[in-house]
Amino acid sequence: MSLIRRCHACGDHFRPSPDRRHGRIQCRDTVNADVTLPDQRFVCADCRETVVELTRHWNRRDATDDLCSFCDSPATETGRVDLTSIVDERVVSQGRYRLCSECEVVFETFLTDLYVDIDLPDPWTHRPSPDGAVFEREGDLRVETTPLAAAEPRVRLFIESNPVVEAVPTGPPRARAREFVAAFEAFYPDEPRPLGEDVVAGNPGLRGVR
Ligand SMILES: [Zn+2]
Ligand SMILES: [Zn+2]
Repeated sequence: MSLIRRCHACGDHFRPSPDRRHGRIQCRDTVNADVTLPDQRFVCADCRETVVELTRHWNRRDATDDLCSFCDSPATETGRVDLTSIVDERVVSQGRYRLCSECEVVFETFLTDLYVDIDLPDPWTHRPSPDGAVFEREGDLRVETTPLAAAEPRVRLFIESNPVVEAVPTGPPRARAREFVAAFEAFYPDEPRPLGEDVVAGNPGLRGVR
């Protein structure tokens, strides 16, 4: 019997399969003292796609390189992240990457945001993605975040595909987006829009956008 691994993103437990690739994220070294990156995490085959979407444009670097893998800026000090694709127990590809201290913050936020640490109420579904997470309530209500590395991060509430509330989040955008989900499930308003505005007004991690 093969061992069982826990997916960092969806929390499911899985056995490594001979048919599909799962992923391993190893943070070997960091340069930004304010950043906490995990030593080692695994992601299941489905969630691996999400990590790949973020990292597909990263450039592999040797130990002597002094360019960041993510933003390509010269950096005298860089941390190291190893990303590995695994089939069964076999490594099928591996990349070594170097991150500058700013990009370590982006990666930290990404990993925090990827992790689902609360159960969503039943009517809601959730799709994590570096292109922006989407929370959806049976078709008529939706909360979206902009991509993690967006120059202007936003959280938006939609009613039947019309944006009705928009806010600038601080911290992981997905955590902020969940505030709308929690508030909606607590109050079941007839009009979601004023509730959305109240969520923004009452949350220090959200700033309203006109
Ligand atoms: Zn997963
Ligand atoms: Zn960088």
